[in-house]
Amino acid sequence: MSAIKHKIVVLSGKGGVGKSTVSANLAMSLAAKGFSVGLLDADIHGPSVPTLFNLVGQTATQTNDAINPVTANGIKLMSAGFMIAHPDQAIIVRGPAKNGILEQMLGQVNWGRLDYLIIDCPPGTGDEPLSVCQLINSPDGGVVVTTPQEIAAADVRKSIQFCRKLNLPILGILENMSGFVCPKCGEEVHLFGKDGGRKTAEKFNEAFLGRIPIDPAIGLCGDEGRSFLEHHGESATAVAFEKAVEQIDTALQLLPGKEPATCDSGCSSCSSSSSCPTAKQEA
Ligand code: ADP
Repeated sequence: MSAIKHKIVVLSGKGGVGKSTVSANLAMSLAAKGFSVGLLDADIHGPSVPTLFNLVGQTATQTNDAINPVTANGIKLMSAGFMIAHPDQAIIVRGPAKNGILEQMLGQVNWGRLDYLIIDCPPGTGDEPLSVCQLINSPDGGVVVTTPQEIAAADVRKSIQFCRKLNLPILGILENMSGFVCPKCGEEVHLFGKDGGRKTAEKFNEAFLGRIPIDPAIGLCGDEGRSFLEHHGESATAVAFEKAVEQIDTALQLLPGKEPATCDSGCSSCSSSSSCPTAKQEA
């Protein structure tokens, strides 16, 4: 993991708020910008990555003692879903066996050099997210996903305390499923209330990464393994996503003791060798 420049943990106080969707789109947005990106689906009992990338049934290969990530959309992916023989097979493990799988996915994967590793953490503040955060070697920070509803915001407050207890810097709070613009009349409807994430961020003095509106296309793209940002880049939801990614990147650069991501080719004008014109010329 020492060859990974930035490790970002995506957390949520409860399931179903869009944590995996945010993780996948964050990874796709960074990959589209030319960064080398990995996405680790650390949810052993409910892995989403195989579905979100249309890879259900695919299994990971092994080289010597290490597992090779599965690559799709230019992103290196690892999920417990790639370690089972049949997609409907349940992974029934607890305690040390569960930690063993997490340790394997965190420490024995051939990630290679990465600019960013996005870790889709299991929801809540119990032993699974705790193990994930403790097993990752110095994560940079966490992105906390919530919906605008009070019931979700109540859980996000617990996630904030969780991060603070573990000394995991909070890069920001993202309010997902925040409003729906009627495609017929253009009126915005707040199906799940409004501003729960923003108000929590203000109250706890954490950065607010913005509101991501509901867009049915995000679910359809997820089901088909297509990049929502690539196919619906003009939509309000995609624009909000891109703004959140910019804010996350800024928050990362501002972390104390963190050097800005620098280009491997030594040029001073970009931060990733995979998009660097100097590196391409040299190649
Ligand atoms: P979690 O990882 O928190 O359990 P998921 O990412 O699996 O949540 O999302 C739950 C469901 O909500 C999925 O069907 C997903 O497609 C949908 N979803 C997530 N965010 C949005 C959004 N902004 N607009 C529309 N549907 C969304």
